[in-house]
Amino acid sequence: MRQIKVGRILTRSTDDRMERLADRLAEDASSVADLPAQDVVRPLACARCQSDEQHIVQGRPGEEITLVCRWCGQVWTPEWRGGGDAAEANQTLLEQAIAEAETKAGSGAGATDILQVLLDGLTAGEWTPTDADRLTATQLLSELPPEEVTESVISGCMRATLPYGSRSEQFGEALARTIGVLVAPGLDGSYGRRMLALLTELARTITAVHPDDLPARPAPTASA
Ligand SMILES: [Zn+2]
Repeated sequence: MRQIKVGRILTRSTDDRMERLADRLAEDASSVADLPAQDVVRPLACARCQSDEQHIVQGRPGEEITLVCRWCGQVWTPEWRGGGDAAEANQTLLEQAIAEAETKAGSGAGATDILQVLLDGLTAGEWTPTDADRLTATQLLSELPPEEVTESVISGCMRATLPYGSRSEQFGEALARTIGVLVAPGLDGSYGRRMLALLTELARTITAVHPDDLPARPAPTASA
């Protein structure tokens, strides 16, 4: 399975006629009959929080695309509102993301690689988590023994420690990649255990940082 961090995915739809119909009706009811279908390009937004940037994309060539939101941990496959075959469109989207990843260093790194990079960076003083990272890590450690952590536990912690924007991009990516591995069919048990052990170690290291040493950010106000 490939797992890739993407920027913004743009998708094509041919069916925004209902929205434009409302506009047209407001203007002139006699002109609605000739309203043509029109290609529109939309950013692909998270099915839950509507964030449209830096999702984790995953799947194998020939499969439909699966996305994991870096902000709220939602896992989803896009629903197509336009014409054409939805499964085919989702396969194409995955192929495009894989092709694009070939040109960008680091975008295709695995979950354990990312967790290890953050752990090493934190230990070496090269990466500093945010207040929200610390909150997320604290909640994660309070939930379950590491080997029993599931994707819904992780996404629950992500959602409980919003607002969006104060969690670091790096920790969000590591959590989203971990969720992606956990939901993928045919999970390799030993890889999964190593990944969750690394996640636990990273969370413990983050919570060990004194809050005064964390960068000043707006304190999260969302409650669990
Ligand atoms: Zn989301």
